[in-house]
Parts: sequence; C-alpha cells; structure tokens
Amino acid sequence: MNSGPDRALSAPTAPEDAMSSTSPSSTSGSKTGSTTLITNIASLVTNDSSLGDRSPLGLIQDAAVVIDGDRIAWTGDSRKAPATDNRVDAGGRAVIPGFVDSHSHLVFAGDRTQEFNARMSGRAYSAGGIRTTVAATRAASDEELERNLTHYLAEALRQGTTTFETKSGYGLTVEDEARALRIASAHTDEVTFLGAHIVSPDYADDPAAYVALVTGEMLDACAPYARWIDVFCEKGAFDGDQARAILTAGRAKGLHPRIHANQLSYGPGVQLAVELDAASADHCTHLTDADVDALASGATVATLLPGAEFSTRAAWPDARRLLDAGVTVALSTDCNPGSSFTSSVPFCIALAVRDMGMTPDEALWSATAGGAAALRRTDIGRVAPGAYADLTFLNAPSHVHLAYRPGVPLVREVWRRGVRV
Ligand SMILES: [Zn+2]
Repeated sequence: MNSGPDRALSAPTAPEDAMSSTSPSSTSGSKTGSTTLITNIASLVTNDSSLGDRSPLGLIQDAAVVIDGDRIAWTGDSRKAPATDNRVDAGGRAVIPGFVDSHSHLVFAGDRTQEFNARMSGRAYSAGGIRTTVAATRAASDEELERNLTHYLAEALRQGTTTFETKSGYGLTVEDEARALRIASAHTDEVTFLGAHIVSPDYADDPAAYVALVTGEMLDACAPYARWIDVFCEKGAFDGDQARAILTAGRAKGLHPRIHANQLSYGPGVQLAVELDAASADHCTHLTDADVDALASGATVATLLPGAEFSTRAAWPDARRLLDAGVTVALSTDCNPGSSFTSSVPFCIALAVRDMGMTPDEALWSATAGGAAALRRTDIGRVAPGAYADLTFLNAPSHVHLAYRPGVPLVREVWRRGVRV
C-alpha cells in the first residue's frame, strides 16, 4: 500500500474552546480549496532554514501562515500576509509543525502493569516480556485491536502528533501479523511489518524455521499492507545474519528497511542499517565509535526513543555525541505496552533535553523534521509552502516551553491536513 500519504489519522472531535476567528468557518479548508490565514503567531517553527532566523528551525516571530486546502501555501511575517477567504487569530501563541512519531507499536491487546511494577521494584528488563503481549493480542478480536489502536491515536493527536508510524509484531503467526497490518493500514500509511520482533514462542526450539516463515509465507501475506520492514536485532531476538536475511527478503518484496538496533547491548544492528540504507536505526543506545561514524556517513537516521530508557531505568542514548558527529537524529515515543507506554512526544522532548544533551531547538527539530526524515518524507514535519498543513498550537509563547514546562499539557489545538481536529 505504498500509496500517497493522505489518509486521515482517526481523530477525536476535540472539545477545545475555539480561538477567536473572524471567518464564517475557521475549520474549513480541506476540500474546497478555500484559503485560511492563521495570524498573530508569536513564534512559528517552520523547519525551513531559508525562512525567518535562518536557523535549522527557521523561526519566525510575529508570523502568519496561509493554508490552501490541505497544504501550506505561504509562511512569513504577519504584516506581509496575503488576503484569504478565512482568518484565524492564534492569540499570540507558538505554532510548530505537528509531531512526526516515526516509531510506535500500537496494534496490541492487554497491558503489562505488573511487569512495569516489578521492574520498578528492581527486576531487569529483557526482550522476553513481549510474549505476554503476543498472547493477549492473539486472543483479541479485530474490533478490540482497532478500538485500542484508535484510543492511543486519539491520545497522541491530542498531544500534537499528526503523523505516526506503527508496527505489527505481537501476532507472530501469518494470520495475526497480516491482521495487525491490515488494521493499522486503515489509520496510517506508515505501516511496518515486524514479524521479526522476537522468535515466535511456537518456534522456540527452531529459530531458523521461524526466520524462514518470516521471510516466506508471512512476508507474502504482510507485504500488501506495509511500507516498511523492521527487525529487533538484539541478543534474545535476532542476530545480525538473521536480521540481514529478513530485511533483504523484505526489500525484495518492495518494503524498505528500518531496524531496532543497539538498544540493550552493543551489536551489528546499526552498521547493518547503514549498509542496507535503512531509513532509520532505532534506539542507538549502545554505540561504538565505528557505529557513530557509520551513521554519520550514511543516509540512515538515528531514532532515539527515551521513553524506553525512562520506563526501563536504563542508560540514556547519547544524543549529543550523535549530533556532534553530524548524524541526523529523530525523536519518537516507541509507544508500546511493555517498555515505553507513553504516546507523548512532548514528554520525550523534555527527557531528551534534560538527560540526553539535546538543546530545546534540537529536540523539537528531531521530533518533527527528524521524524519526517526517518520516514523519508518531505511533505510533513515542516511549515513551509507545499507541505501538508499539519500544525500544533501551544499554550505558550515559544516551543522551548515543551522542555521548560515538562509534564504540562501545552498543546492547545491541532490542525491536520488543513483541518482543525
Ligand atoms: Zn520499538
């Protein structure tokens, strides 16, 4: 389903109090081609370094945006804004691109409260806890899985996420993996086949047979619903040779690789990602200098997922080291019921700034433009002409407040594809 990325993220009807508007309909704009001016923006992050202060964020003070249909038509100084059909007053708030959450696991059932509770009481995290979610997911109905998915999507949207990627990986049979991807593909175009999350418990004695299944019958059943293929390359999951076989097979079926790499230990994942031109190597917590050099020399984005380290009390990935080496860094939630049960990108931004050496500007860029890069997209993650009109309004004068005021619900309003949701 490598079709155009224009399916709607299922959205709740947010009971937000409307901002002042002088137009007959401030929520129009998606299909009529009518134009809407959003003005009185105290601080606008465009992620276009040819705009505003010419920084990577392309910051414009006292800014305005014009939306034409579902796209950004104009961005600039509010005093120079062109005439439009409709007009919305942003009330002197900050506006940023909608967050691009390029790594989540949202097709699942059950929860792992007890596992988290035990871990916070001193027990170590290993890859095996995934089996608990596999059992619950297999037992769930399609309706239950979809209800759960849309619940977390709505939660993410309320926190400013306008694009998300999600994966299979809790079915681990041909039917259950294809079912997860079919359900996910009704809600996003960024769907990832992760049959190689762990070796299925049904194949515990014969991992090679499971790899053969993943690269054969399971891949055939799943490829029509997915854009990406992923593998958990880690001790206790899949080694480098297995990961290479799985990603190579996926690529032959038209799926592009991304990898769970170097999360719990040093390993071959990151260098394999760069070698295979994976769009992203995700986690990147344990890196050698050679891993960092490989990322800096290739087109693979390093996607950091601090919710996982937070929820497992693990050492943080060193974002500063990657940024200083010139690596493109994305920041995402890894939302999943085991190791990172948060859908909040603002929370991840606060962690990245507090504990991973990122500046507030770098963290914001990584959670928007960085996520877009990790999905190899240029039509999202920025507020510049031609991009989708995905905007998050903050109850704050600046994006810096996302890290400065951690845990505070600062997202006031979200626009997706030119429509207030
Ligand atoms: Zn993950």
